[in-house]
Amino acid sequence: MKTDIEIAQAASMLPIHEIADRLGILPEELEPYGRYKAKLSESVYARLADRPDGRLVLVTAINPTPAGEGKTTTTVGLGQAMKKIGKNAIIALREPSLGPVFGIKGGAAGGGYSQVVPMEDINLHFTGDMHAITAANNLLCAVLDNHLQQGNDLGVDPRRILVRRCMDMNDRALRSVVVGLGGKVNGVPREDGFMITVASEVMAILCLAANLTDLKKRLGDILVAYTYSNTPVYARDLRVNGAMAALLKDALKPNLVQTLENTPALMHGGPFANIAHGCNSVRATRLALKLADYTITEAGFGSDLGAEKFMDIKCRYAGLSPSAVVLVATVRALKYNGGVPKAETGVPNPDALKRGLVNLAAHVENMQKFGVPVVVAINRFAADSDEELAILADYCKQAGCRFALSEVFAKGGEGGMELARAVVEACEDPSDFHPLYDTALPIKEKIEAIASRIYGAAAVSYSAAAEKMIREIEALGKADLPICVAKTQYSLSDDPAKLGRPQGFTVNVKEIRLSAGAGFIVALTGDIMTMPGLPKAPAAYQIDVDADGHISGLF
Ligand code: ADP
Ligand code: MG
Repeated sequence: MKTDIEIAQAASMLPIHEIADRLGILPEELEPYGRYKAKLSESVYARLADRPDGRLVLVTAINPTPAGEGKTTTTVGLGQAMKKIGKNAIIALREPSLGPVFGIKGGAAGGGYSQVVPMEDINLHFTGDMHAITAANNLLCAVLDNHLQQGNDLGVDPRRILVRRCMDMNDRALRSVVVGLGGKVNGVPREDGFMITVASEVMAILCLAANLTDLKKRLGDILVAYTYSNTPVYARDLRVNGAMAALLKDALKPNLVQTLENTPALMHGGPFANIAHGCNSVRATRLALKLADYTITEAGFGSDLGAEKFMDIKCRYAGLSPSAVVLVATVRALKYNGGVPKAETGVPNPDALKRGLVNLAAHVENMQKFGVPVVVAINRFAADSDEELAILADYCKQAGCRFALSEVFAKGGEGGMELARAVVEACEDPSDFHPLYDTALPIKEKIEAIASRIYGAAAVSYSAAAEKMIREIEALGKADLPICVAKTQYSLSDDPAKLGRPQGFTVNVKEIRLSAGAGFIVALTGDIMTMPGLPKAPAAYQIDVDADGHISGLF
């Protein structure tokens, strides 16, 4: 089989105005960025406001192996398959960050015959949204340091500054830095650090904002620092949120691209799935629902993280109601959950697979707690044995769970028709969507609801620092926000080594952070990396461009 980039470069893309035309987008609503990418203008929202919404389908997964289990590939493939069974569908995805592109090999735009194109552009600067977010975040930091330099009227305590600079690259050398060195004219020395852009609160805000006015308000609500007298300083106190919103004016518009089979795709926003909520923008999803009968979208990591946040944060804020959940399961991840080391997951091992099925059971039950019908998508890999696939199918049958074998990686939409039919059926089932908890509950009760009902934990413990921050958030009057848990994706617990369906464990909340602008409270349960590093042999070594501008080595 060809590599992803070879398949992508052989795609017969349609000019983007034709994709837009098929969606009923008017020429004046399309802002082309070259021939195959475009942004959609603000005016399209008003024109379609009264149109009824289509169905929303969320693609999530069981606990993965470190290689990823194919959520994006399944999302793209399902979108393509919908067309094959005569349904009109659109895809809504996150846009990739440059960090992983040059770091560890691994696509962010699907794989095999289920990809979003033009993949080089999408993976390398796209329409500049990441750069705009980087600039907006760094403007806030520059204004803050300038405030210190110009006399510090607000009395900001330089030791209690919460925002950090950012850049869209994996660069561990920037995790902790000292700024302002070099004497009086060069600023006030203080400790600072960098995050990767997708970990910034500005990214989370862009993805949750309803419109420009809401964006500006949320940017103003970013908790920037505390003063020497312990009062909070918000971005609006630095009078910088208007300029930040101005920098983000175009970044707030969703990007339109297409799949290998010309299915339309909105790719917009890409927040981390640990310290942020991990799904594409509310603006893109809302628009997608107006443009097609079925919107297929993805949330990061396994369902314990991504889907829970999708339901409890994104759907709650945006007033969305998903009609079905597709739960991606793979033979290799189930074997991994059954105790097989990652390197051996390609070897047939029916017994390990059977042991790992408890993990699938937990995710199916968890999704049912939100009142939404579930379809298990068995993402087929070449190494899967027929015996193993049969065991997995039998399990789904016995559990009374809708399922389908998906071969969209190897066959494109053609390989996902059975899945598409199952999803269409599931969308007709009665759905009674409701979030897991009431945001009016105390912070600890909300965390405990997630830990006990989704993770299966017996208890939650809090560090002294976490306890203190909970009291601070209560004092600030911000306790009624939803919770965003930062946790390992490899286990239902907060310990990546506890595979399968662990029981009797305690979730340890080490730290609590307030993302007042994004509108959630982050509960950190482990050491969460907000600036990744590069591996010994970064993917950048393989990437090249020839004299004609032809790119190679990108996945
Ligand atoms: P996720 O969105 O869950 O992280 P992706 O869809 O990005 O997963 O897939 C992770 C990697 O696995 C990608 O490189 C993708 O091309 C590859 N992949 C996904 N499904 C298959 C499959 N069925 N066979 C082979 N490779 C696959
Ligand atoms: Mg993905």
